[in-house]
Amino acid sequence: DTWTARILTLFPEMFPGPLGQSLAGKALEKGIWRLETMDIRGFATDRHRTVDDTPFGGGAGMVMRPDVVDAALEAATADGLKPAIYLTPRGRLLKQELVQELAAGPGLVVLCGRYEGLDERVIEARGLLEVSLGDFVLSGGEPAALALIDACVRLLPGVMGAEATLAEESFNTGLLEYPHYTRPAEWSGRSVPEVLMSGHHEKIRRWRQEQAEETTRLRRPDLWDAYRKRKA
Ligand code: SAM
Repeated sequence: DTWTARILTLFPEMFPGPLGQSLAGKALEKGIWRLETMDIRGFATDRHRTVDDTPFGGGAGMVMRPDVVDAALEAATADGLKPAIYLTPRGRLLKQELVQELAAGPGLVVLCGRYEGLDERVIEARGLLEVSLGDFVLSGGEPAALALIDACVRLLPGVMGAEATLAEESFNTGLLEYPHYTRPAEWSGRSVPEVLMSGHHEKIRRWRQEQAEETTRLRRPDLWDAYRKRKA
């Protein structure tokens, strides 16, 4: 029951990629999580291993065939691993809450689209959870899968050295994080805010809270409103 990321892709060589480095890579080596790739092309049934076809109704681009994708999903979910996620700009925007839910579960099956995306029927038939990384268009789901899995893996027990740092991060508190400073204390004519050098823990805590609130209010009025409603 190791946390497992199972990736359905036309480009398995893109993995582990950055997930093989640093925190995630060390955790992968230690067996804290598992990464499996399945080549969607392996589920094509014709001689040419076709995975896509032209869109009904016409228009540009190609569409991934439902029969091929369904066969891949059938194999990927046979042992009960879920949820099955389709990364798409049409999906629900990825938020830290979903990342936390996914990290707490057994793992995920994630399907990376290419071309214009999937035939709608396989999304419906499989009840895929559609997730978007943001309001922009990537050329494929693979970079999105890397980002999603990275966000999950760093929350797994034993991956981050100091678990305490997680609690104060952006979104966990409902606010964006306060600014950070390190040595040198004077750099390029800029100094570090006095209070951080004071050693006065309560003052530092209050200053960081104010900074986090101010940054959130200015940059993300949507988060700020939600935060204030929650406090009220
Ligand atoms: N025709 C699609 C549209 O207009 O929404 C864009 C398809 S995109 C070129 C190819 C694949 O990249 C998608 O099927 C999806 O898997 C992935 N992708 C692109 N942008 C994404 C995003 N913002 N979030 C998650 N996945 C994305």
